Amino acid sequence: MIKLRAELKCYLCGRTAGELETAGGQEGTRRTFRPAPGMESLVGIEVRKARCLGCGGGLYVEEIERVYFLSERPLKPEKRGRKPRRRPAA
Ligand SMILES: [Zn+2]
Repeated sequence: MIKLRAELKCYLCGRTAGELETAGGQEGTRRTFRPAPGMESLVGIEVRKARCLGCGGGLYVEEIERVYFLSERPLKPEKRGRKPRRRPAA
């Protein structure tokens, strides 16, 4: 499963309005908006219409980051040490 994460930032003051998370699936995409502290009232507003609560500037999406969710399998390096052979006692 792949998730895309992006930050929503203000053009004018550079304030972070929140985080946008998109879970990519074949049947449409689901978006989750996590507002930054103090930006809670942006929840539910379309990103294109949302404005910075500090200065009223437009918001843009910055730095989309792919987050891969791997199945929970801890990747342990295989130990490939040779076992010391025991010499048969003479
Ligand atoms: Zn701003």
